[in-house]
Amino acid sequence: MKNIALHWKIIIGMIFGILWALLSSTLGWSAFTINWIDPFGIIFINLLKLIAVPLVLFSIISGVANIGDPASLGRMGGKTLLIYLITTVAAISLGLVLVNTFKPGKLIDEQSRIDNRISYEIWASSQGYELKDGINYLQDPIFLQRAQKISDLTKTELKEVSLNDRLDVAKKRKEITPLQPLVDIVPDNFFYSLSNNGLMLQIIFFAIFFGICLLFIPNDKAKPVIKLVDSIMEVFLKMVDFVMQAAPFFVFALLAGVVSKMAGDDIGKVVEIFKGLSWYSLTVLFGLLLMIFIIYPLILKIFVKKIPYKGFFKAMSPAQALAFSTSSSAATLPVTMECVENNLGVDKKIAGFVLPIGATVNMDGTSMYQAIAVIFLAQMHMIDLTLGQQLVVVATATLASIGSAAVPSAGLVMLIIVLDSVGLNPAWIAIIFPVDRILDMFRTVVNVTGDATVSAIIADGESMLKYPKANNPSKTFGVDS
Ligand code: ASP
Repeated sequence: MKNIALHWKIIIGMIFGILWALLSSTLGWSAFTINWIDPFGIIFINLLKLIAVPLVLFSIISGVANIGDPASLGRMGGKTLLIYLITTVAAISLGLVLVNTFKPGKLIDEQSRIDNRISYEIWASSQGYELKDGINYLQDPIFLQRAQKISDLTKTELKEVSLNDRLDVAKKRKEITPLQPLVDIVPDNFFYSLSNNGLMLQIIFFAIFFGICLLFIPNDKAKPVIKLVDSIMEVFLKMVDFVMQAAPFFVFALLAGVVSKMAGDDIGKVVEIFKGLSWYSLTVLFGLLLMIFIIYPLILKIFVKKIPYKGFFKAMSPAQALAFSTSSSAATLPVTMECVENNLGVDKKIAGFVLPIGATVNMDGTSMYQAIAVIFLAQMHMIDLTLGQQLVVVATATLASIGSAAVPSAGLVMLIIVLDSVGLNPAWIAIIFPVDRILDMFRTVVNVTGDATVSAIIADGESMLKYPKANNPSKTFGVDS
């Protein structure tokens, strides 16, 4: 066991976690698993997040300060944001092509779709939205009785899922001014940003500002600060090393907990959940797997010739396995950084700057999933979105993925805003909620893989990519054993 590379041990932990959950739910031990095993999974995520927030802060300060001159920092920063934007829009466009080709929402039987359509029309008229596609069942006398029934039903359904809290988010969004997102990035109290995990954009803003100011003060004053920041970074990276030694066990606990919570004492439930949403799930999954196994390697092949297909996955597999098990790019960030620096050979200055920003603003998997989800929900309610509306989906899904916190289910919550932007009912997130956690695991892998790809492109462009890392190829987690 000692000679097996850590990423294999993590994968074995994942498999055992799922097997344990299946066994415990068959034997009626789910409560035991949730009470006594799952908490270790939560401890694991807490530990990683504990490291992630200060790591983002210090690595960006160190990245910015070590780059040296403000001009190259500006060039690199601009390039990073531009490439992140391009990959996000590409992912959304691919998602739109897939969902419009496979039409998973139209595979639901006709009667249910008509009912869905009527309930949509009831909702739209209560909200004052005009129906843009010219259909109107509510005006049709044949459907009047049906509409009355559905109207009563919808009210009770909405109460049951109690989505009010989440809907409040959408309402608040409507009330704010267009520049509010910009205002939100600038903190008025940095310690408040630090103590609220979700305020990563504010932490990034502060770190870049701090790093830039370090470049403008006299060298003798700046040097000790930079040295201190670099040393603190080392301490945090050591913490990651320690935590990762126990990762296989933690991952076992995490997956056992997640699957047990879904299945309870009846494993058939998981199968049932997936049956109803299978075409939607398969479309999302297909798109995400395309990104991981075809699109990113293709981008690397075109822009960074020196990283081979297999080598890329070998280098990134510990981070990918962790992204899958934690569903959080923020929690995975410390490991992503180690993999990118030590295995892909991206220079520390680039990785320290590009990756923490990417973990927060670049979520290709999340944005692709949001695009597919919105169109799927529209299809199952017999709503044909116009090209203009689909372009609005591209824009809002891009912004929503930037604004999503890098934690489990953040993408689902932000989906409310995307639905809202094209006049669809935000409460529909309840429909896809049951399969969300599993899809979240895959989209987090895409998010992390996307950040790594972009960091390699930037590093190569700046001649700061040394693949394979000549002097220390196997430092990170025994990748080449
Ligand atoms: N869990 C994702 C991440 O951390 C975000 C999401 O899509 O919900 O990257």
